[in-house]
Amino acid sequence: MERIYIAEYLSYWKATEAPLSADVGVIEGASGVWLYDVGNSEETAAEINALPGRKNIVLSHFHPDHIGNLPKIRYDALYQGANTLRYTGAGTAVTADIYLQDGVQLHLFPLPSSHAKGSLGLEVNETYAFLGDGAYSTRKAGRRVYNAGLLLEQIRVLRGLKARWFLLSHDAEFVRSREEVLSQLEAIYKMRSPKESYIVLSETDDEE
Ligand SMILES: [Zn+2]
Repeated sequence: MERIYIAEYLSYWKATEAPLSADVGVIEGASGVWLYDVGNSEETAAEINALPGRKNIVLSHFHPDHIGNLPKIRYDALYQGANTLRYTGAGTAVTADIYLQDGVQLHLFPLPSSHAKGSLGLEVNETYAFLGDGAYSTRKAGRRVYNAGLLLEQIRVLRGLKARWFLLSHDAEFVRSREEVLSQLEAIYKMRSPKESYIVLSETDDEE
């Protein structure tokens, strides 16, 4: 698989649809590599196992297209949200911001999300922020919806980041400008009605 470079220290393998497998971010640190998600395809698992040196893994959320490869991968450290730990049964649960220095500056942050409980973002060198599927909606009774309260909390967390670029899983355009993503989320938040917990984007169960 082609590894696409965004910066000298940051690259990724693109998501696939068949099999459904999320983008895998690769950050080159001083002690080894940091992976954001591990995907769910044989091809991606083989690419990850072929990386030399120490492997630290950060999981965005518990969905199988993001974590399915975990049992097939050799790794040294694993970080995830508390809800994701219920699915992996291994590693460290991250419930508050963590800052690490490893040749690159890493900031792991819990991301309030309508899409998945226990979402975890990763900001690198105050420039790029991996969000996984965290900024997406969820499906409720066949409709695409955002939870208004979680969306407001999410906007606050994202506004507090320094990164200029947000990396969104599965998106044809993986690297998105921070302002573009935030203005979309803020426009959705404005659609809320005072008495409703959910903001309905569509009545039909169409694809994102
Ligand atoms: Zn997901």
